[in-house]
Amino acid sequence: MFATLSDRLTSTFKNLRTKGRLSEADIDATVREIRRALLDADVAVPVVRSFAAAVRERALSSEVSGALNPAQQVVKIVNDELVTILGGQNRPLTLAKNPPTVIMLAGLQGAGKTTLAGKLALHLKGQGHTPLLVAADLQRPNAVTQLQVVGERAGVPVFAPHPGNQGHDDVLPSGADPVAVSREGLATARAKQHDVVIVDTAGRLGVDAELMAQAGRIRDAVDPDEVLFVIDAMIGQDAVATAQAFADGVGFTGVVLSKLDGDARGGAALSVASVTGRPILFASTGEKLTDFEVFHPDRMASRILD
Ligand code: GDP
Repeated sequence: MFATLSDRLTSTFKNLRTKGRLSEADIDATVREIRRALLDADVAVPVVRSFAAAVRERALSSEVSGALNPAQQVVKIVNDELVTILGGQNRPLTLAKNPPTVIMLAGLQGAGKTTLAGKLALHLKGQGHTPLLVAADLQRPNAVTQLQVVGERAGVPVFAPHPGNQGHDDVLPSGADPVAVSREGLATARAKQHDVVIVDTAGRLGVDAELMAQAGRIRDAVDPDEVLFVIDAMIGQDAVATAQAFADGVGFTGVVLSKLDGDARGGAALSVASVTGRPILFASTGEKLTDFEVFHPDRMASRILD
């Protein structure tokens, strides 16, 4: 994902290696190159601006250890600032004091929510939890079946509105109302003592008012401990507006970056935590259920600067 950005930053740093000491002009030239590399990677403009300002200020005050040469100092500063824009530290999933923990997924259609639901369920199952997946994406004809396939692969039960797939006791009287399905999914989780409920919700191709309203109603019905906004890291410049729309329309507690395995420019990945003020909890890195990582800002920064 960050190959081009990595190369650009690395060659910027290489130019500094021969310098004994950095003048203000050297620092300004370096910061300018970093700024361009970030903009070309589709990082949001305000994020780039504050990033560049922070790097410049710290490089000028050269507060970094005297044991580092100028190039190493700049690398260290850029690394620290990358960690900062990525959210600082990993923020673990919030678990309810009184289970079940309710996790709601939101995001655009195709963002990777359903896939992520399976990955997260498998991850939590591996930690000894007993998740239940709830199929509240009733917009897309295949979404319920897709979640059932994913659930089967993960070995995690799925609560779905259609009869016949999960056994007769899960047949719903609610028809195709995603709010009712969510509520009944939660009731089922309580009755069957699942300690985590993951609610997959519908997405649209673009942000729209009805989608937001529906997600808002589901949120109100299940009172989630986490609302995770799943965002396709390949969507480039649109990322910020999309994230903002979901932040305003539904509100979310954390972010999941999906498709980090892609070869797009990745600015979404680098902007979204900073722009929304919400931490990135997980990353999705492929189509397989095991292509999933707990997100660590420091590891991501090191990967970019490797
Ligand atoms: P949803 O509409 O938000 O539920 O998105 P889906 O989970 O259906 O994912 C949309 C498409 O993206 C599917 O073809 C997935 O296999 C694919 N996908 C999901 N996550 C990833 C990922 O991390 N990497 C890659 N390469 N593909 C992914």
